[in-house]
Parts: sequence; structure tokens; C-alpha cells
Amino acid sequence: MGKATGFKEFPRQTPGYEKPGERVKHYNEFTKPLSDEELSRQGARCMDCGVPFCHQGCPVNNIIPDWNDLVYKNRWKEAAEVLHSTNNFPEFTGRVCPAPCEAACTLNLEDIPVAIKTIEHAIVERAWAEGWLKPDTSKPRTGKKVAVVGGGPAGLAAAQQLARAGHHVVVYEKNARVGGLLRYGIPDFKLDKQVIERRAAQMTAEGVEFRTNAHVGVTVPVSEPGCL
Ligand SMILES: Cc1cc2nc3c(=O)[nH]c(=O)nc-3n(C[C@H](O)[C@H](O)[C@H](O)COP(=O)(O)OP(=O)(O)OC[C@H]3O[C@@H](n4cnc5c(N)ncnc54)[C@H](O)[C@@H]3O)c2cc1C
Ligand code: SF4
Repeated sequence: MGKATGFKEFPRQTPGYEKPGERVKHYNEFTKPLSDEELSRQGARCMDCGVPFCHQGCPVNNIIPDWNDLVYKNRWKEAAEVLHSTNNFPEFTGRVCPAPCEAACTLNLEDIPVAIKTIEHAIVERAWAEGWLKPDTSKPRTGKKVAVVGGGPAGLAAAQQLARAGHHVVVYEKNARVGGLLRYGIPDFKLDKQVIERRAAQMTAEGVEFRTNAHVGVTVPVSEPGCL
């Protein structure tokens, strides 16, 4: 549950930014991550509320108090497992989600919510850096085929779940690359596109087939979208 008195001992901290004079020299992400020690303190601030309002705030039902506690205790690998149990792409949400969990956090009564999004981002980047996020091909193949129309985050999450259940999945994307508005709407300084490529490569290794420049209903007939 974090540390019982953590929220009274440790102030909320979120990542700093590069100085404006540096930021204008490039288009890359410019947040400066917190140290592991600081992240542990931020995890300690979670009170494990009897009714964790952060749960109700989170659209993907992230099990937030559990991974806050695990980060507090430096159990990062377990934190990554819990995080991925509800969220296929925490590297997307940890960067660009507007964090309704933090708005819902009990500590937000005092405008000092747990730094949930910061912790989420740190967990998933640690998991990638440590090589914990391997392709999951553990389920036997079912022989069933599924077409997913649209390679935005919603389609990609559906495709990954279906592939991990053992189905053969083909994602049809009308644009040249997958990612949807993550790629073509959100700028690089908020979400580097390598973050999408990294996850797409994992999905390819899990058996997902991407067909880009494939506009279902226009260049690909609805009646026979390839894999059906
Ligand atoms: C400028 C901008 C900034 C944003 N910033 C943020 C932010 O900071 N934080 C945040 O949380 N959200 C942000 N969003 C919103 C976020 O990007 C979307 O909520 C998210 O991408 C929706 O995902 P989706 O998969 O439902 O749809 P989309 O991302 O729209 O993906 C749908 C995909 O389906 C494809 N498609 C559609 N029809 C067909 C067809 N017939 N055949 C083949 N392919 C098809 C499209 O080409 C597209 O790739 C932003 C959006 C924009 C435009
Ligand atoms: S609402 Fe805030 S303090 Fe309570 S469990 Fe969720 S993150 Fe922790």
C-alpha cells in the first residue's frame, strides 16, 4: 500500500523539462525522468484507499495502487507485469493520457495526487530497457483468422489480444504506417514514433500481420479483406 505516512512525508514530483533554449533545437521528447529513488518515494505516497478512486478514473482499469506499492518496494518487474495485465500499451498512455486517474485520486482533494502517470511511464520504459517485454506466443494456434480494420491504438490493442489468444490476425490500415492518430496527430515531442515501431515489432513477432496502404471498402473490398 505504499507507505502509510508517505503522502505526508514526500511532496508530489513529476518529471522536469529540458530548458526552452535546448528544446527549440530539436523535435524530440523533452521530459527528464525522475531517479529510481524519487520514483520509489512517489510510489510511497499512494494510500491504497479502501475505495481507490483512481480505478474509477482510469479508462483501462489499471490496477494502480498495486503497482505504486511495487515501485515503492523496488519490485519493478512485478510492477510491469501488473501494469501489462490491464494495459497493452502503457508507453502510450504513460506519455499522452490526460490522466483522469490523477484527477480522481483521493490526494487530489489537496491538488497533490499521486504521480500515477509518471510512475506508469517509468515502469514500462524500465521493462523495455531490461528486456522484460518479450513477444508472447505461449498460446496454441487456434487456426482462426481475424481481420482488424484500422491500425490505431484501439485496433492494435485488439489485434495483440487476439494474436495472444492464438488467432491469426491481419491489421488493415489505410495509411502507410500503423499508429492512427498517435502517429499522424500527436507530435514527436510528446510521443516519439519509435515508441510505436517498438511495439509493432513485438506484435509482428507475435504473429500479427500488418497490411498498410489497405483501405477497406475502397482499395480492399469489404467482401474479401484478404484473410477472411
Ligand atoms: C492532434 C491530436 C492530438 C492528440 N493528442 C492526444 C493526447 O495528448 N493524449 C491523448 O490521450 N490523446 C490524444 N489524441 C487522441 C488520440 O490520438 C486518439 O484518441 C486515438 O488515436 C484514438 O485511437 P483509435 O484507435 O480509436 O482511432 P485512430 O487513432 O483514429 O485510428 C483509426 C485507424 O483506422 C484507420 N482506418 C479507418 N478506416 C479505415 C478503413 N476503412 N480501412 C483501413 N484503415 C482504416 C485510420 O487510418 C487510423 O489509422 C490526439 C489526437 C489528435 C488528432
Ligand atoms: S486514489 Fe490515489 S492514493 Fe488512493 S489508491 Fe489510488 S493512487 Fe493511491
